[in-house]
Amino acid sequence: MKLCSGKSVASFSLISLLTVSLFQLQACAVNPATGERELSFVNEVQEIQMGRQSDPAATAQFGGLYPDQELQDYITGLGMSLVAVSERPNLPWSFKLVDHELINAFALPGGFIYITRGILANMNSEAELVGVLGHEVGHVTARHAARQITQQQIGMIGLIGGSIISETVRNNTESILQAMQLLSLRYSRQDEAQADELGYRYLVRTEHNPEGLTAVMRMLQSTSPSAEEMGVPGWMLSHPDPGDRVAANERRIARAQQDFSDFLSGRDQLLSHLDGLVFGEDPRQGYFIGQRFIQPQLALELTFPQNWTTQNSPQSVQAAAPDRDAVMQLSIAETNSPQAALSGFMEQGVTINQNSSQTLNGLDVAWADFSASPPEGQSGQPVRGYVLYAASGDTVYQVLGYTLAERWETAGPVLAQSIMSFQPLRDDRYRDVAPHRIDLVRLPESMTAADFLRRYPSSVDNEAVLLANQVSENERLERGRLMKRITGGRVPER
Ligand SMILES: [Zn+2]
Repeated sequence: MKLCSGKSVASFSLISLLTVSLFQLQACAVNPATGERELSFVNEVQEIQMGRQSDPAATAQFGGLYPDQELQDYITGLGMSLVAVSERPNLPWSFKLVDHELINAFALPGGFIYITRGILANMNSEAELVGVLGHEVGHVTARHAARQITQQQIGMIGLIGGSIISETVRNNTESILQAMQLLSLRYSRQDEAQADELGYRYLVRTEHNPEGLTAVMRMLQSTSPSAEEMGVPGWMLSHPDPGDRVAANERRIARAQQDFSDFLSGRDQLLSHLDGLVFGEDPRQGYFIGQRFIQPQLALELTFPQNWTTQNSPQSVQAAAPDRDAVMQLSIAETNSPQAALSGFMEQGVTINQNSSQTLNGLDVAWADFSASPPEGQSGQPVRGYVLYAASGDTVYQVLGYTLAERWETAGPVLAQSIMSFQPLRDDRYRDVAPHRIDLVRLPESMTAADFLRRYPSSVDNEAVLLANQVSENERLERGRLMKRITGGRVPER
């Protein structure tokens, strides 16, 4: 959880849902990138509107803008050069580097393109960056995003219709259990192949070496397991079938029968922009010591129940019981007092068993024990839980935990104990944290990658360093080559 508050995943999708009428007449239109006639659900004005309205929530959900204006400008500059040679130069294009460690890149309809610092940190040339940007631009110029979001939202209706009860509980159920999967737009294999084809086209038109696209696909292949281990779908899941795509790009290059040797790979051009880039998780955005979640910038902590799985995302911290029959979430409430927040919650059709305002661990709080059941005629099981609103500084936090009503006797006390552990962070030791960062080294002489790891030790494991540089241990590295070393990273161990 970061300093900023914002719309949750669920409200992001709900907002988009409201802005698109799903039952408009379908029109036949010419696809700008492919020149083919096809069915279209949305026109260009609606496409731009969808993107524009979802942009703030999408940006916030991926951790907000990465705070480096020079790097943002570099990426925007590259993106705009691709747009200029594309079929739709007049969309309100924007390119954003977002502050998330996950390896990902995505596009919203209308020309809103995002890449994470996680994917950037693992790139090794400008042509790779342009390859990813070009691929995402291709999704927009060929209108995949517009089509795909429409279809995804048709799916969302089933999800919402079949879900339970009040708005808060419903939104939270979705954001906890559906959570991150909504964030990765999923395209068909055919759309992916077409975006690759367009990415290749834009790379060549801007005289970037099309091998960059192959290289970045290989990088994504080699790094994707780590993204999946984090429990969230990365680029590889939203962009399936990497092996075929590498081969397809090599075939494109061969078919072109063109000499690309003068085209820019731009290894140093890219790397020179990555010095100091935050690498991996950023403990300033919150970290765990066991089940204890610590947010050093907000100076707060909360201990989640034993054996629960936890996940820290930009706008909330979520936890689920091993059997998935109970969940918790810590987030920011958009009100100015705990009492007002609780009143808002109580108006949402839940049954209040007990409620009170008091102080807890030195904080002003309002809390309730509530029950909720699915509306008449809808499936689902009754749930029971606690909601706590606590004021700290100018911010009101919501700690919500609930379980199936039939599990209340055992799960209720576990939830209560965890929720009551919410408190100000009192020991300054836990506020003194720093992320890992990329530190560029220009090799003074030729050496193997293994030598490099020994001579310039990193603060993360060797495998991560090799992956970030896309080299193998025995590979010989030329004198003068720029290499990424990872340094820093300070988090208390207990
Ligand atoms: Zn794609």
